[in-house]
Amino acid sequence: MKNTLLRSWTGPLTERLVRAPGEHGLGQVPAALKPDTVVPSVCGFCSTGCSLSVHLKDGEAVNLSANPGYPVNLGMACPKGWEALAPLAAPDRATTPLLRKDDSTLAPVDWDTAMRHFVDRFKTIQREHGPDALAWLGTGQIPTEELAFLGALAKFGMGIRHGDGNTRQCMATAVTAYKQSFGFDAPPYTYADFEESDVLVFVGSNLCIAHPILWQRVLRNKRSPEIVVIDPRTTETAMAATSHFAIRPKSDLSFFYALAHQILRDGSIDREFLARSTTGFDEFAAFLAPHTPARAAEASGIPEERIIELARLIGSGKRVSFWWTMGVNQSYEGTRVAQALINLALMTGNIGKPGTGANSITGQCNAMGSRLFSNTTGLLGGRDFTNPAHRAEVARILELPADTIPDENSLGYDQIIDGIEAGRIKGLWIVATNSAHSWIQQNRCNGLLDKLDCLVVQDMYASTETAQAADIVLPAAGWGEKDGTFINSERRIGRIRKVRRAPGQALADFHIFQLLARYWGCADRFARWESPEAVFHILRELSAGQPCDISGIEGYDHLDTAGGIQWPYANSKFRISNSESPPPPNSTTPQLPDSTTERRLFADGRFHHADGRARFLFDEPRPLPEAPCADFPFTLLTGRGTSAQWHTQTRTAKSDVLRKLYPQNIYVEINLTDAVALGIRANDPVTIRSRRGELTAAAHLCHTVQPGQIFIPMHYRETNRLTHSSFDPHSRQPNYKACAVQVLPAARYRTHSAG
Ligand code: SF4
Repeated sequence: MKNTLLRSWTGPLTERLVRAPGEHGLGQVPAALKPDTVVPSVCGFCSTGCSLSVHLKDGEAVNLSANPGYPVNLGMACPKGWEALAPLAAPDRATTPLLRKDDSTLAPVDWDTAMRHFVDRFKTIQREHGPDALAWLGTGQIPTEELAFLGALAKFGMGIRHGDGNTRQCMATAVTAYKQSFGFDAPPYTYADFEESDVLVFVGSNLCIAHPILWQRVLRNKRSPEIVVIDPRTTETAMAATSHFAIRPKSDLSFFYALAHQILRDGSIDREFLARSTTGFDEFAAFLAPHTPARAAEASGIPEERIIELARLIGSGKRVSFWWTMGVNQSYEGTRVAQALINLALMTGNIGKPGTGANSITGQCNAMGSRLFSNTTGLLGGRDFTNPAHRAEVARILELPADTIPDENSLGYDQIIDGIEAGRIKGLWIVATNSAHSWIQQNRCNGLLDKLDCLVVQDMYASTETAQAADIVLPAAGWGEKDGTFINSERRIGRIRKVRRAPGQALADFHIFQLLARYWGCADRFARWESPEAVFHILRELSAGQPCDISGIEGYDHLDTAGGIQWPYANSKFRISNSESPPPPNSTTPQLPDSTTERRLFADGRFHHADGRARFLFDEPRPLPEAPCADFPFTLLTGRGTSAQWHTQTRTAKSDVLRKLYPQNIYVEINLTDAVALGIRANDPVTIRSRRGELTAAAHLCHTVQPGQIFIPMHYRETNRLTHSSFDPHSRQPNYKACAVQVLPAARYRTHSAG
C-alpha cells in the first residue's frame, strides 16, 4: 500500500524525467537550440574555464572548437578540451540504475526501484543510528546549481548533517588560508595579471601542463617578466622559467620566511599599505628574526646568496605576483605555507594592483562553485553554520523553518572516513567522485567502503573503482548533457549547456535530486528549485550582501551576452566596497565593467575582516610526518602527469586521442644517479614500497627529480597505495606530496621477498 502511494505520487515526475522528450531527462537537446548551430559552453575539466563552441548537426553534437571571443581562453584549448565530447560516448556509460543483489552482482533496475531502496535503506540507518550515521561526498565537477541542490537537499531535506567534497583534496588549504588572512575565501586576481606582472613566482605549480591555457596567458606578457619556479622537481614549467629553485620537499615554509626576513632587513616593505590595510605585522616581524637565509639554506638546499637574490627581486618594487597550486595545498602545513605567500604579497604591497596578488589557482572546473555554494563545511554563500544570524538569513531566503538549518559544521572528508572506520557512519552517498582511487592511503579507504551498510554512487560510469563497490548505482548525465554554471579560478561565472542526450536512463544530477526529494518526502521544501536557472536566481538572492555577491547578474542570458561575469557583481543596493568600480548612487542597474574587463579584488585596500584589514598569520615549520630513513630512504612526490590526463582518468582514458598522449602504464621518474646505484635501467620494472603498500612501475631515468626523490603521476590507480594519511590541521587537506618509500628493481625485490 505504502509503495503504491509512493509510486503514484512520484510517478509523473519520473515519467517526465525518464521518458518524455524535451529539455528534461532523455529528450533531444533543448528545442531552443537550432539543429545546425554552434553553442558556447564552458569546459568541464579544469578550473581555467575555457569556452568551447559545440557544433551541432541535425541536433547532435558533432564537433568542438575553442571560442575566440571568450576573455579566458581567447580561442585556445588544451587536449582535454578538444576531446571533451569523447568521454560522453564511452561504451561503459552508466545507462540504468543498478542494485547489488544477494549474489553480490550489480543488476539493472528501474528508477523507482533504485529510489525506493536508496530511501528505505538510508531512512532505516537514520532511524536506528541517528542523523550522524549518514554522510555524502560531493565534487567540484558538477554545476553550481546542482552542488547547491545536493547540499540543500541533504542537509535541509534529508537531515544528513555531514557532507564534504573532493575539493577537500585539492583546494581546502587555499580556502582556509584566504578565510583566515582576508576574512573570506576570495582569490584576488584576474587572468590579466599573468600578462601584467614583472615577476611571476610559481610555487608547487606545473602551470605548463596543469593549466596550459593560463601558461599561454603568461607567454602573452610583454613586460619581459622574470618567471620564478619554486618546486622540488624540474617540471616543464621550471624548464621554461628564468630561474628555478629546486628546494627540498616541504622546506617551503622555511624558504618563504627567509625571503620575508631578508625583505624586512632590506627595508623593502610597503609601510603605508601595512599601516592602512593589515594587522599583525609587528608580531610577524619579530617572529622572522631567527628565520635567516642561512637557516633556510640548510633546510632547502638552496644557497644563501640565491635566497637573498630572490628576496631582493621580490622587494624591488616591481609588480610581483605569487601563484600556487597543489605543491602548496596538498601539504601537512599547507595553510601556513599559503599564508607565507600571502604575507609576502602584503608586506610588499603586491595586492589589489595589476600584475600582483597572492593567487591560488584551483583545480576542478567548478571547485570555486563548490567553495561558495555546496553547503558542506560552510553554509550557502560563504556563510557559517555556527552563526545564528547566517542561519536565520538562509532560512528566510529559502522559506524554511529556522530549525532545518544545522547549527554545526559538517565533518570533513577525512573525518567521514574516520567515522566509517569507527562504525559511526553506516550510509554514504558519493556523487561524481572516485574516492576508491583518489583518497590518500587507498587501501584503507577501499577496505572501509566495504564496512558500510549502504553505499550509493551517482556517476556517469558504473565502471569506476568506487561504483564497483556500491550497493546502488545511479546513472548520471555528464558535462554537455545538462545546463548550469561553473565558476572558474578568477571567479568568473560561465554557462554550460545541454547539447547532447544522456544515454539510456541516465539523468542530470539536478533531476536525480528532484526525484530523491520526492521519494524522501521533502519535495515541498524545494518547490522553487524547479530548474537550474531557477536555482541560479536563488543563489543570487543567497549571495546578496556577501563578498561573493552576484545579485547583479540578471540570469543565464546575461552570462551569455557578457562572456562570463566575475564575482562580485552586485546589484548596487547590495554592492560591497572592494570592486574597482564604485556603485552609482541610487541605482539598481549593475554598472560594473563589461564582460571584457577583468577585475581583481582589494583595489581599495579593504579586506573582509570586520576591521577591514588583512592578517599576518604564521607558525614554526614542522618536520615531515614521514621523513625518509634508513629503511625507506626515498621521498615520493606525486602530481599531474600530462595535460592529456585528468585526475583518476575516468573520462580522459575514454578518448583514443588523449590515450596516445601519455604512457598507458604507470611509470616512476628516478634520478639517473640513483638508478645507476641501484642497477636500474630505462623501462625496467621497479617496485616502490611504502609502509602501507607497494606497486610496480616502469623506470623513467631522468634529472627532473633530485637524487633521493622519485615522482609518480597521481592518475594511475596504484599511486595512492603508497601515500600517507597525514593532514593539514587547519584545512584538513591530505598531504599527498611527500612520504618515505623504498625503490627496488622488481626482480631483486622478488628474490629478496622469497628469501
Ligand atoms: S585548459 Fe582546462 S578548461 Fe581549458 S580546455 Fe583545457 S581542461 Fe578545458
